[in-house]
Amino acid sequence: MHDLISQLIRPDIRALTAYHVPDPAGLVKLDAMENPYSWPDALKAEWLEVLREVALNRYPDPQGAAVQAAVREAMAIPEDMGLLLGNGSDELIQMLAMAVAQPGRKVLSLDPGFVMYRMIARFAGMDYVGVPLRSEDFSIDLPVMLDAIEREQPALVYLAYPNNPTGNRFDSDDMVRIIEAAPGLVIVDEAYAPFTDCSFLGLLGDWQNLLVMRTVSKMGLAGIRLGYLVGPHAWLEQIDKVRLPYNINVLTQASAAFALKHKPLLDEQARMIRAERQRLHTALSTLNGVHAYPSEANFILMRVGEDRADTIFEGLKDQGILIKNLNGAHPMLDECLRVTVGRAEENAAFLSALTRLL
Ligand code: PMP
Repeated sequence: MHDLISQLIRPDIRALTAYHVPDPAGLVKLDAMENPYSWPDALKAEWLEVLREVALNRYPDPQGAAVQAAVREAMAIPEDMGLLLGNGSDELIQMLAMAVAQPGRKVLSLDPGFVMYRMIARFAGMDYVGVPLRSEDFSIDLPVMLDAIEREQPALVYLAYPNNPTGNRFDSDDMVRIIEAAPGLVIVDEAYAPFTDCSFLGLLGDWQNLLVMRTVSKMGLAGIRLGYLVGPHAWLEQIDKVRLPYNINVLTQASAAFALKHKPLLDEQARMIRAERQRLHTALSTLNGVHAYPSEANFILMRVGEDRADTIFEGLKDQGILIKNLNGAHPMLDECLRVTVGRAEENAAFLSALTRLL
């Protein structure tokens, strides 16, 4: 069997390690940028009533018309722009790659950045080019970025706004220069839009190569897997051709349409997360030997002193708290840890466990 595996599975796929998610059982889960709040019981009961009517024996609406309408209304999608739904934004990244991949074609983004841009480029047989951010503050080094675009001529450029795992929001003038210089599509990935006041949604149409990608995951709906791509119809009609027919299942369609009708609750949760982020950042900044980077997302990147990240990560886990260890993930992230903003009591538990370990 092993011979057949090595004959059949592409060498670049064999060389990969599968995306690993640690088992969070019994731990305070502050590793995956989820919204920590649930819904009031009355709202849950109303949602279950909606689900009761869902026909599990039927395929979903292939276009997801009702959920599209709900997304358009709740998220104020410009009327003249198209909307494409994905099974999480991860699937949209995959669709984009499938629609453009050809030998020699490139995906370009900023590093350290969201790992799926690189992973999916590789799955699709494309080359990934990671342009380094400035190491002091993770801002864009514009001349370096413009040079890379000129040299590499990427088919796709991803700009995460705010960026993961660094948490900062790039300068919008730099982004405009990038959009104008790029020979292909530029996708502004606004996964963390609920936690910042800035967006490129209103600028769609100003450049023919700009698309905006969003997700409901960080709004408290990570479990249902729904991402959406917004941009000129002419682009989305092409990308839609590589979408699997029923990519958004019936439970997701019904649940998302329901949840988005209650957007004020999700907005209130995002507001609470922003307030907690401020408190957590202030508290982290007072700790000796911890550098907490500014964040416009629902997580905070921090650098801990010499050779301590692995020990602190394991020590927190021993005390029942799971965060993300980024040490070794990228040369610029040496001794870095990332903590998702949780509920007040979770953040307090994290802070006291961390203080004990320092
Ligand atoms: N973009 C960024 C920048 C992210 O950090 C993430 C998830 N961590 C995603 C996209 C993927 O989101 P989804 O859950 O919609 O697949």
